[in-house]
Amino acid sequence: MTAETRFTTAPEPATASQVAEQIVHLARLVHGGTSDQCLTPAQWTALRYFARANRFSRTPSAFSEFHATTRGTASQTVKSLISAGLLERHANQSDGRSSLIEVTPAGHEKLQNDPLSALTRAIDLLPEAERARFTAVIAHLATRLARERTAPLFGNCGDCGHCDTTDSGPAYCRCTQSLLAQEDMNALCVDFSPAAPNLR
Ligand code: SF4
Repeated sequence: MTAETRFTTAPEPATASQVAEQIVHLARLVHGGTSDQCLTPAQWTALRYFARANRFSRTPSAFSEFHATTRGTASQTVKSLISAGLLERHANQSDGRSSLIEVTPAGHEKLQNDPLSALTRAIDLLPEAERARFTAVIAHLATRLARERTAPLFGNCGDCGHCDTTDSGPAYCRCTQSLLAQEDMNALCVDFSPAAPNLR
């Protein structure tokens, strides 16, 4: 190969399957080589989930939907974190048949060393416009896959079609028929239904 050929050969754009492999590789990198190996990736996901989910979604069954796993597997993960003192089970005032899972102070402390924070920092370094575009692309891909698998799409009240902010008081959830506190607005919800037409 001559020098001229080398300089005129343009790299091929990545194929869709190469991009998909890169996304999976990125997800694996989050947990690979971390100093804190005491929790499995599934346990980290559960701990993070219960720290971010709203009061309608902090149940083992909602977590099983979020983690795309069986209820039995999700329940085992939750039980292991309860045994480790990182989660605890509370009575669910609005539904006597289920319990609410809460993160304990030890669980919140554990999350200070979340292996996901390395990826969070890397995303934070992206220019704002690039990060907004990346967020939109990830949301689009998640919506498409959730629709194909008929799986629920998790999101928060700010982007939800059930959220009614027409009155001057607190926002109202038409799905759960509840007033929403400020802390609910950015929490993950299993009943989320995207308001944006491109995410439906
Ligand atoms: S408005 Fe949507 S995201 Fe918020 S609690 Fe209701 S269903 Fe969940």
